[in-house]
Amino acid sequence: MKQILLVEDDHTIVYGLSEYLREAGFEIRAASTLEKAFAMDEKAFSLVLLDLGLPDGEGWAFLEKNRKEDGLPVIILTAREDEKDIIKGLDMGADDYVTKPFKAGVLLSRIRAVLRRQGNWEESKKTLRCGSILLDKNKTLVWTGERQVPLTAGEYRLLLYLMENKGRTLTRNALLQYLWDNCGDYVNDNTLTVTIKRLREKLGEESRQVIKTVRGIGYRVEDD
Ligand code: CA
Repeated sequence: MKQILLVEDDHTIVYGLSEYLREAGFEIRAASTLEKAFAMDEKAFSLVLLDLGLPDGEGWAFLEKNRKEDGLPVIILTAREDEKDIIKGLDMGADDYVTKPFKAGVLLSRIRAVLRRQGNWEESKKTLRCGSILLDKNKTLVWTGERQVPLTAGEYRLLLYLMENKGRTLTRNALLQYLWDNCGDYVNDNTLTVTIKRLREKLGEESRQVIKTVRGIGYRVEDD
C-alpha cells in the first residue's frame, strides 16, 4: 500500500483527508509541523502533500531540502493562490499545486497522476526494452523473455548503447568511438563485427533480428 505524508497543521483537513485517502487505498501519516515532517523517514513514503503555512515555519523549507536530496514527489496544498507562490512552488520542484478549498476527488486524481508519472519515469530509468529483449540497468542484466543472457562487459556495453538509441542508426565509427571511450582498450573495426556477431548468437534466434545491420553504415536496434 502506498504511503502518503501529509504535512498539515489544520486538524480538520488532516482528519477528513486521511479518511478519504484511506478509502482510496492509501496509507496516510500526518505531520503537523515542519520539525515533525523532517523527522519522518522519507523512504517510507511515495508522495508528500505539503501545506505552506506551518506553525514552526514555511513549507518551502521542506521543499528545498527535498529537492536537494532528489527526494519525493510533492503536491503543495495551500490556501495561497497567488501566481507568484504557484510559480515559486513549481520552480522549486513541486510536482503539482492545489489550492484550498479543494475537492477531495480532484486532489485524488492529481495524486494518482503524479504517482503515475513518477512510476513511468522510474521504470524508464531502470529498464530498456526492445522486442523481446529486456535490459536492467541497475542489475546490468539482460533477458530475452524468461531467459537471462550471459554477456561479457563489452557485449553488454554495446547492447546498452544500441538500446539507448533504439530506432537510430549508429555508424560503425560512432560505436567504435563509444566502445573506445568506455573501455580504454583499443577496439578495432573487426572487434566490433565480432562483438555484434557474438551478441546476436547469445540473444538467440528469436531476438537476434532486433540488431539490424545497416549495410555500409552501421547498426540499429528496433522492435520487431
Ligand atoms: Ca496551515
